[in-house]
Amino acid sequence: MRDLYEVLGVSQDATEDDIKKAYRRKARELHPDTGGDPEEFKELTAAYEVLKNPEARANYDRYGDPRGPGGGMGGTGGDPFAGFGDLQDLIDTFFGSAFGGGMGGPSGAGGRSRARRGSGRDAIIDLVLSLEEAAAGVRREVEVTLQRECDTCTGSGAAPDSSGPVTCKTCGGAGAVQQVRRSVFGQMLTSGVCPTCEGAGRTVDSPCPACSGQGRREVTETVTVEVPPGVDDGTRLRMSGRGEAGRQGAPSGDLYVRVRIEPHEVFQRQGNDLHCELRLPMTQAALGAELKVPTLHGEEQLEVPAGTQTGDVLTLRRQGMPKLNSGSARGDLHVHCRVDTPTKLTERQRELLTELAAERGEEAPSGAGHRGFIGRLREVFGG
Ligand SMILES: [Zn+2]
Ligand SMILES: [Zn+2]
Repeated sequence: MRDLYEVLGVSQDATEDDIKKAYRRKARELHPDTGGDPEEFKELTAAYEVLKNPEARANYDRYGDPRGPGGGMGGTGGDPFAGFGDLQDLIDTFFGSAFGGGMGGPSGAGGRSRARRGSGRDAIIDLVLSLEEAAAGVRREVEVTLQRECDTCTGSGAAPDSSGPVTCKTCGGAGAVQQVRRSVFGQMLTSGVCPTCEGAGRTVDSPCPACSGQGRREVTETVTVEVPPGVDDGTRLRMSGRGEAGRQGAPSGDLYVRVRIEPHEVFQRQGNDLHCELRLPMTQAALGAELKVPTLHGEEQLEVPAGTQTGDVLTLRRQGMPKLNSGSARGDLHVHCRVDTPTKLTERQRELLTELAAERGEEAPSGAGHRGFIGRLREVFGG
């Protein structure tokens, strides 16, 4: 990959101000409106977007990737790219997207980074889990069809009995060829992918018969995915180097496992908290009760206080989802109460409720209350 500091023409200890000035100077030079190369300009802007952001710059310095180590197996919660927002498009310029970066496409020429030259593409697969599986963590065997290193030539692309790959004569092993372009600023050197070796820097005289000199073959294999407890819908787990094999021994891409979580019939998830609804008979809501409520792992005792109303929320601490990568920390379970008004009363029940209403000084049901209400309306409106 082309070094971001090199792209901006600053040293690694450049201040934020140095970076800003260098960007302005180079942007004037490379802007497409003044005849600059759009790819180079995009590369410059992407480098600037990373280096001006202290967090992204620190990650880049430390891990060689502005997204940091997150997204690795059990990296950060949720989308590992969250927090950079619009930056993602720009970062993709350098690092390839999870959906197939690496070489290929017209943008493979010029600004494409050297380290990724010939590298295997990233692959992405979906893994559907139940909420219980997401809470407990799970090991899953998943079948993927990918380009993998060829066994016959161990990725070199050369026939086993031949002398092996040789340095490309066209580009001298650089994988890129320089071209002189004219622009309003005079002659400019740009580099493009070498047409002979397609960027690999090496060619084979006698190609491997099993893979036709590609160094890789399509295989279907079973991958074991370890899903840590606490993953959320959309979490991406990265299995470094488990994507497609590179050309002729170049590095492999990464395999991304995108987690999907099925809707649950009892619980709704919000971050690490869970929510569920509890329907209470009117009498229980009024008198209070000790109830058993479902949790992700069996039933728990819940104390419903006397006088509970519809909409009241009772919380069971630490009965939610585990927090991803944080030991034993867990969210809470919020129980939303809903009081059921009885329907279909028996004669006896009606009597009891009527008695209760009288005892409480409330207007009697069975029509009297209704008339009373209309009567009051008549008083107010003089009807
Ligand atoms: Zn082969
Ligand atoms: Zn070449």
